Amino acid sequence: MHEPVAGDMKPLVRVALPVPLPQAFDYLPGGFDPARGCRVRVPFGRSQRIGVVIERVPGAELPVERLKPVLELLDEQPLLDAELLGNLRRAADYWCGAIGEVIFGALPRLLREGKALPAFEDEAWRLTEAGRGAHAARNRRGKSAALLEALSDGATRAEDLDALLPGWRAAARRLQSAKLIERCRPGGDDAPVRIRPAPVLTGEQRSAVDTIAASAGFHPWLLQGVTGSGKTEVYMALAGHALRAGRQVLWLVPEIGLVPQALRRLRARFDARIAVLHSHLAEGERARAWLAARRGEAAIVLGARSAVFAPLPKAGLIVVDEEHDASYKQQDGGFRYHARDFALMRAQTLDVPIVLGSATPSLETLANVEAGRYTRLRLPRRIHERPPSPVHVLDQRGLTLQHGLSPALLDALDACIARGEQALVFRNRRGYAPVLLCHACGWHAACSRCDKPLTLHRGRARLLCHHCGHSQPVPATCPQCGAAALTPQGHGTERLEEALRARHPSVPVLRVDRESTRGRDGFERLLDKLADGKPAFLVGTQMLAKGHDLPNLTTVAITGVDEGLHSVDFRAGERLAQLIVQVAGRAGRADKPGEVWLQTHEPDHPLLKTLLTGGYEAAAARLLEERRALGLPPCGHLALLRADAAHRGALDGFLAAARDAIVTINAGLPTPQRLRLDGPLPAPMSLRAGRHRAQLLLESSQRAPLRHALVAWLPMLHALPQPRGLRWSLDVDPVDLY
Ligand code: ADP
Ligand code: ZN
Ligand code: ZN
Repeated sequence: MHEPVAGDMKPLVRVALPVPLPQAFDYLPGGFDPARGCRVRVPFGRSQRIGVVIERVPGAELPVERLKPVLELLDEQPLLDAELLGNLRRAADYWCGAIGEVIFGALPRLLREGKALPAFEDEAWRLTEAGRGAHAARNRRGKSAALLEALSDGATRAEDLDALLPGWRAAARRLQSAKLIERCRPGGDDAPVRIRPAPVLTGEQRSAVDTIAASAGFHPWLLQGVTGSGKTEVYMALAGHALRAGRQVLWLVPEIGLVPQALRRLRARFDARIAVLHSHLAEGERARAWLAARRGEAAIVLGARSAVFAPLPKAGLIVVDEEHDASYKQQDGGFRYHARDFALMRAQTLDVPIVLGSATPSLETLANVEAGRYTRLRLPRRIHERPPSPVHVLDQRGLTLQHGLSPALLDALDACIARGEQALVFRNRRGYAPVLLCHACGWHAACSRCDKPLTLHRGRARLLCHHCGHSQPVPATCPQCGAAALTPQGHGTERLEEALRARHPSVPVLRVDRESTRGRDGFERLLDKLADGKPAFLVGTQMLAKGHDLPNLTTVAITGVDEGLHSVDFRAGERLAQLIVQVAGRAGRADKPGEVWLQTHEPDHPLLKTLLTGGYEAAAARLLEERRALGLPPCGHLALLRADAAHRGALDGFLAAARDAIVTINAGLPTPQRLRLDGPLPAPMSLRAGRHRAQLLLESSQRAPLRHALVAWLPMLHALPQPRGLRWSLDVDPVDLY
């Protein structure tokens, strides 16, 4: 027996370790005095791990002999400051993540390994005399040419090169030995941030900026305005205020593809250090950017979802652009956080304003505006006083379509090209055709691991599964009956591309989907091809919905959206309304009026009607009413336990036990607070990549009892027998139920 000795209460340190367990672990300080937020090396099982101290526990009433000491203290100063550490703990708690995984997920990998902090010097590069010579660039290709080009504007900071030209260092070494470029100190470090002239703000922009700037401390703002209404200028004016006051700005965009465009605009306005953070950076680049943020040297931290974990010792403003975008939600792994909502937590603790911008705010945000928690500011007009583009509904019922396009739509597209303008055709399906069918016997190509049709990708001559990535050759004849009558059914972007090419052989057709834009900046490079404004078609998926300015794009055709009207997903209507508004917003920028064509089998669908007559706000109000009636988010709260396994048995056993546990917890809640339990049921996609999937949904009209139940449930889930090969995750506030 180990009795604690009175008067010998040893202080302990509680350490988060990168393991998928909900708890942290206690250690003796071992002669060190580690502060919260410092990294330590500790024994764990038979090995050693790097951990982060999250708490100092005053005294042990535990048998101290069983505790092990800290072996090494890795940081003199906390790596994570109190705000970030505190909010990571809150986030782990809220989204039911494992504390160690959450904290380590927020650190760049180089810092997870327990090495000393890399001493990144403030570093820039410039052309030498020889490099400035006319022939230097001409004789170089690829990265080297691009680097010479990038430096031709003057000395450039290493972190800007990281952001603009990934993998530039190899080229830099080559060019340095050829004496074409050299390292230098970046200029203007101690100078106050220089801000280049901005356009004179419109009255509405001015009043938004003044209102937000006048409010001190934490306040959530919704800046609602259609694409082109000048939201970005408002963010930039506010960023200017923060920068002038020596504060940092966190600027989030929903996906990596939108970073270069935002970076370009910020660079053009601010002569300041901008740290770019997203998941495609090399580890050294990421560590450099993260540390620049942590030292307060990066005036602006720009990035996609994961940038929300950047340290912000001098925070002054947070911007969440396109706040409605589902990409802000982490959709896989064990920690399914929402970057917008985490940004809100941080803004509150940091006591800074947070601006959520969108043309089509999420219903969550609109409900918060209604409840008075957020304040809405509107930018009701597009900057150049252009009216919104009219939307024409094309009833496609009974019409003979060519490659999914109706005669009237083809006429509109022809006319657009004849006027010398550009047109966009939206179709939310990549590939050539979603089904390959045998006309003789009815067989169709399906993925055996997902039980779903395979998509024909004709360019690659493959059948692909869009759910698991499986790929196989296209059979020449029907594997079932031997007939040669295999016909593609339905239309993807690739087929539309082909159809438009055939119709307009001399007009370039650019396809934008996940396939054609693979690789960093792929999308940007594609769009650059349209910048000259010559007649062209842009064909693509929802990637096209996001903010890009194409001045000569006047005609937008939206096809194949009907499935969004019938989806089982309760958010499908909201997504569809947002998509239509965002895609339609591409039409008629600059000085040309635009027009939008919406081709549908359901011209009378109430949601479409409301959207087209009353606009997004009317549609959103209607959708919010429906959610209220059904008790669905944001008027109710959900948590989804998902599990998958190679065998149904393991899955069913685990979920049944999980259900028993939550039933017991539920019985302890006062009757009006009881949760509704739905399942276990097969997931809407019940087989994926050869794994069976099932889920259990918890619903509650109030947040508190759901939180209460989750806190009790999570440790029970971890304690259940975990059959081999079973995976499970808990998704709090899921954005989809698949
Ligand atoms: P949003 O972010 O709402 O799409 P932007 O801020 O990008 O809108 O503005 C759309 C276009 O109008 C941009 O080209 C921008 O430079 C320009 N712009 C914005 N505000 C003004 C202004 N006050 N005066 C002149 N041009 C402006
Ligand atoms: Zn057949
Ligand atoms: Zn599959």
